[in-house]
Amino acid sequence: MRNLEIINPCTSEIITHLEPDSQERIESAIAKARNSFDNGRWPLMPLSERRDILLKISKGILENAAELAKLESMNSGKPIKETTFMDIPSSAKAFEHAAQAMEEYLKPEGLEVENAKSLLVRQPQGVVLLIIPWNYPLLIASWKLASALAAGNTVILKPSSLTPLTALELIKIMDDAGLPEGTVNLVVGSGPLLGEKLCSDKRVDMISFTGSNEVGKEILKYTSSNVKKLLMELGGKSASIILKDADMELVVNASLCSVFLNQGQMCTQMSRILVDEEIYEIFIEAFLDKVKKLKLGNSLDHETQIGPLISESQQKKVQAFVEKAKKEGAQLLCGGNIPRGEEFKDGYFFEPTVFAQVDPGNTIFQQEVFGPVVCVNKFINTEEALKLANDSDFGLAACVWSADVSKAREIAAQVNAGTVWVNTYGMFYNELPYGGFKQSGFGKELGREGMLEYTKLKNIFIDETKGAKPIVNYWYGV
Ligand code: NAD
Repeated sequence: MRNLEIINPCTSEIITHLEPDSQERIESAIAKARNSFDNGRWPLMPLSERRDILLKISKGILENAAELAKLESMNSGKPIKETTFMDIPSSAKAFEHAAQAMEEYLKPEGLEVENAKSLLVRQPQGVVLLIIPWNYPLLIASWKLASALAAGNTVILKPSSLTPLTALELIKIMDDAGLPEGTVNLVVGSGPLLGEKLCSDKRVDMISFTGSNEVGKEILKYTSSNVKKLLMELGGKSASIILKDADMELVVNASLCSVFLNQGQMCTQMSRILVDEEIYEIFIEAFLDKVKKLKLGNSLDHETQIGPLISESQQKKVQAFVEKAKKEGAQLLCGGNIPRGEEFKDGYFFEPTVFAQVDPGNTIFQQEVFGPVVCVNKFINTEEALKLANDSDFGLAACVWSADVSKAREIAAQVNAGTVWVNTYGMFYNELPYGGFKQSGFGKELGREGMLEYTKLKNIFIDETKGAKPIVNYWYGV
């Protein structure tokens, strides 16, 4: 098998080569994870000991934060400001929160039913396969690992073959923290080559997948022959609804974040901005002014606001979406090209791109581009805004902006999406569940619900009454 070339998307230089795992090594990872669950220490370890190890992992991430941020930026193209202030500290916090909340989230619940007691207990799913995308390599791995490990599972971790480097470092941090050998098993290689073997294996009890709809559907096929628990976090085409009384300065700045962070390669990107027609012109003018000033550059430069896309094929995909949008009649207000200039010539950069008044039937209004591209449309009333927002196969997230919070809440209740942010954007908290509706997937990450996804609920029914037990005593006339 050919070695994987791990590329820096700013320069297209090879950072390192990695040997992809062979079928034998995949087999060994599955067997190890299974054996560690069935016979190992982790699932039976007292919660207090598990908690201490998770806290040490969190500490280990923070102690290595600067190197991890640099590595993540080099490998993913994400600006260093984002990895330094968001990805890496949030990864550490995911483990810290899981450690601190696990006893509360996992505690058994007692119910009284007639004369009996029922004990609802949470048990780990077993062997959990975690499949990670390239857009938030360490953060999404940490979200999933923290909950899966807290709940007592053993894990097979499969990072994207484009961005495996921080996962390799995390494995070292977990070893140093004292995680028993075999609890987390890393597999490296191409998803299409390894996916079917990993996903269809009966020894894997659960798959937690974050990635594209196309691959999500493949995984559904692989798993159809043996029933297993699935958690699917898929794509999005989220809408940001801006009412005429919204705080204009806030909403312009927030729209920049919601569209262009991570070069727009965010599942919760607000790729459709819907603006009340009364403030549309003012919004567009202020927004375009700031979009045109965004600084593109090398991800390791602290001044950079927009880095490169992840790969040449992603760059081509974004360009193709833009060309199709133009052909379909969308009005291009800025961007739309691969930038020229010495500093961009070897990387996979793309200009921040704004389309206006796009026909809702157009491809660019319906499909996930996963790049720095946005459609800005106007609406005449909230009914129209909601119709546009909900006219999508996806239902991951949305924003509503208004000075009238009760009105914003009413609108939020009617948006068909798993998360709606009112007067803010992108607030992910470890305490709060996150996950999509419709084609954006099913199941939740984060919060109590997120951790409980990695458990099975068992009902232990204890009848402490003596004698009169109508069915079991008398049914057959005893
Ligand atoms: P992708 O689906 O191409 O890859 C995701 C992972 O699946 C990678 O590890 C890849 O190697 C693996 N994979 C590929 N083919 C596979 C197969 N046949 N079987 C098993 N695994 C396979 O996604 P991507 O390009 O890495 O990430 C971008 C996508 O992820 C976007 O659609 C984005 O919206 C989505 N995403 C969703 C969320 C969310 O929370 N909903 C978060 C981040 C990204």
